[in-house]
Amino acid sequence: MEKYDVVILGAGAAGLFCGAQAGKQGLKTLILDNGKKIGRKILMSGGGRCNFTNMYIEPAAYLSHNPHFCKSALARYTQWDFIELVNKYAIPYHEKTLGQLFCDNSAQDIADMLSSECTKNGVTIQLRSEITHVEKQDEQFIVTVNNKKVSSHSLVVATGGLSMPGLGATPFGYRLAEQFGHSILPTRAGLVPFTLHKNLLDQLQVLSGISVPASVTAANGTLFKENILFTHRGLSGPAILQISSYWQPGEYVSINLLPEIALDNFLVRERQEHPNQSVKNTLSKLLPKRFIEILQTLKQIPEGTLKQLNPAQQQALCETLHCWQVQPNGTEGYRTAEVTLGGVDTRELSSKTMESLKTARLYFIGEVVDVTGWLGGYNFQWAWSSAWACAQALATLSKATSA
Ligand SMILES: Cc1cc2nc3c(=O)[nH]c(=O)nc-3n(C[C@H](O)[C@H](O)[C@H](O)COP(=O)(O)OP(=O)(O)OC[C@H]3O[C@@H](n4cnc5c(N)ncnc54)[C@H](O)[C@@H]3O)c2cc1C
Repeated sequence: MEKYDVVILGAGAAGLFCGAQAGKQGLKTLILDNGKKIGRKILMSGGGRCNFTNMYIEPAAYLSHNPHFCKSALARYTQWDFIELVNKYAIPYHEKTLGQLFCDNSAQDIADMLSSECTKNGVTIQLRSEITHVEKQDEQFIVTVNNKKVSSHSLVVATGGLSMPGLGATPFGYRLAEQFGHSILPTRAGLVPFTLHKNLLDQLQVLSGISVPASVTAANGTLFKENILFTHRGLSGPAILQISSYWQPGEYVSINLLPEIALDNFLVRERQEHPNQSVKNTLSKLLPKRFIEILQTLKQIPEGTLKQLNPAQQQALCETLHCWQVQPNGTEGYRTAEVTLGGVDTRELSSKTMESLKTARLYFIGEVVDVTGWLGGYNFQWAWSSAWACAQALATLSKATSA
């Protein structure tokens, strides 16, 4: 039976980065993955350009039942540390918006960088690995993979969440955590488009493809100001994806379609200058014409001219455009979600090392843990930071045992 210092389950963002760091510390490291390629989500991420981190990483951008948990790892391996690595590989990148850093060329650059770091540090990566059994025996983890057994001193679970089963996502990490006595906090799709009830969808479907700037507020008051996109299934776009992580079934979201303008004042001004202008044409100065026409067929925008618009109608119009109340029917689910909320309960992990508080030398990193970031590079940064924290602990432990 081949013996390793560390076996890492999952060759995604967290697993690869942890493997590279463990290898760098001289640990004999094996990474196992069920896929044919490493880092499949990395390759798909950021529309193929991988939004690999964000310049404004802060713990408040992460959802978790224990909001303090992510602080230590994020502070010890920061976005600037990862950017330094990206610079070392001379990977060209740019800030797209809101501090989001994307590769200029391709996400493949990040996958290649991680692969080089693993190769350079002597890490073995075994793809197409079917892991059928894991147990801890006499202080060693025994992993049965493709009908063979390997043993390791430490075991790192980096098998990610449930989003995008087409890219290899499985509940394996959660089941393994349960096997070792961990609690799994309820999981749900995050950073995911909303679907709409049939009536509203039928009315809005003609808007499919239109994107408008907006601010969207969840029932708990969380607000995101970015674009929303009308789709043939419902609503998407960055503001919707962000708010989806804060939305619970049955709740409404409030959409301000004119976040930069006080519509009331605008209408008063326009009425003074162009009293005979139609309400429709006036609003078309602010929003796509097709969108205004749809709202008019929905009787949300009155026919007629500005001078005919009475105060009650004007107030109703302001409410519609500043606080459009939408009750999503649901989300598109794990099929298209970028992340999974919930997961391994952080109260049973060390925030400094990611080690299980129930089983020594068992670690959980990346998305399998109940830490989920906003859209914009926050999730990869969690993968890098949690992986780094874990790798430092693996090295310390190994030095202590060999001393
Ligand atoms: C389409 C898409 C785009 C995204 N874009 C961005 C972005 O631009 N920026 C950002 O910050 N985040 C982005 N994310 C989120 C980000 O990809 C994840 O948060 C991140 O990949 C999590 O890293 P991880 O290593 O924990 O899990 P993963 O990257 O999901 O890796 C888990 C690995 O474990 C393997 N695995 C699973 N089950 C088993 C099993 N039973 N046996 C063996 N191996 C197994 C999987 O094949 C996979 O390789 C995106 C996600 C998606 C789906």
